[in-house]
Amino acid sequence: MLSTEFERVSLPLADAFTIARGTQRVAENVVVRITDGAGSTGVGAAAPAPHYGETAATVEAVLPDLLSVVESVGDPHALDRIERERRAVVAGNPAAHAAVDIALADLAAKRLGVPLYRQWGLDPETAPRTSFTIGLDTTDRMREKTQAAVAEGYDVLKVKLGTDRDEAIVAAVREEAPDAAIRVDANEAWTPRQAVRMTERLSEFGVEFVEQPVPATDPEGLRFVYERSSLPIAADESCVRLPDVPAVADRVDIVNLKLMKTGGLAEAKRMIHAARAHGLEVMLGCMIESNASIAAACHLAPLLDYADLDGALLLEDDEYAGVPIDGSDVRLAALDRAGTGAKRIS
Ligand code: MG
Repeated sequence: MLSTEFERVSLPLADAFTIARGTQRVAENVVVRITDGAGSTGVGAAAPAPHYGETAATVEAVLPDLLSVVESVGDPHALDRIERERRAVVAGNPAAHAAVDIALADLAAKRLGVPLYRQWGLDPETAPRTSFTIGLDTTDRMREKTQAAVAEGYDVLKVKLGTDRDEAIVAAVREEAPDAAIRVDANEAWTPRQAVRMTERLSEFGVEFVEQPVPATDPEGLRFVYERSSLPIAADESCVRLPDVPAVADRVDIVNLKLMKTGGLAEAKRMIHAARAHGLEVMLGCMIESNASIAAACHLAPLLDYADLDGALLLEDDEYAGVPIDGSDVRLAALDRAGTGAKRIS
């Protein structure tokens, strides 16, 4: 017997968050809770992205159908069957699916009394360090944000770009963080020729790689950049679902997966393995989202080359605590709770 509920939450950001496409001040999440007969509760959350056609309202509209599948199957360990039936009832809507999948995975691991990564048998010591994102702002403000991030112990920075002063931004960030790993994300803002030029300029600042240089609607442009780039190229908007992995494999070095794109943990794992089979490196990112969902993403960290799991760190406050993150260090081994580790604190 499983009972289910969901609740929309508006989570204010500590700072307005700007990328090439626009500015966000509040993260609208929908928290899902699934409780078994013994009173154990699993929690997950949807962080819908309008870019992929989802909002809190669309999530709320499909959750009753998804949760009625959960209740009718009634067994939180039957993740595969529930996923198959969920996808038969509701196509698309990956953030809504992710919330349900995460809550079930949390509950199943709680019932077994182990953290999720231990249920999967993963080695917490192989988790990469997570980046902290510096959103777009005036160059001076981005310099200050970098100073603050370095002071808080972040030594991997992801810098949002897509302005007419991108080189000056990276120069300022590098000046303030001489020892940090720096990667950049243009969020589709560049033309292919501009992107190639930027990789030349940015390689002089020791930038690790460039994420989504050109629009996802221009796959030939992405190939043009990849063939001429001075830096490795990562696909984010160009790699959403499993079939996208083989489709981008000959035009990027890295794929950036997110639970809110894959629709859950199982599909994320399938995409990770598909990416490996194509010789790609793997990054796991996130939306701006509560620890109710980020905590789950952290358990996949041992399977990754790059982690970008700072979504909850950008919130003013979060009603959930998750996996301890100390500076850039994702401390999975320090987690002393079963399940994903998401725990209500307010
Ligand atoms: Mg991105």
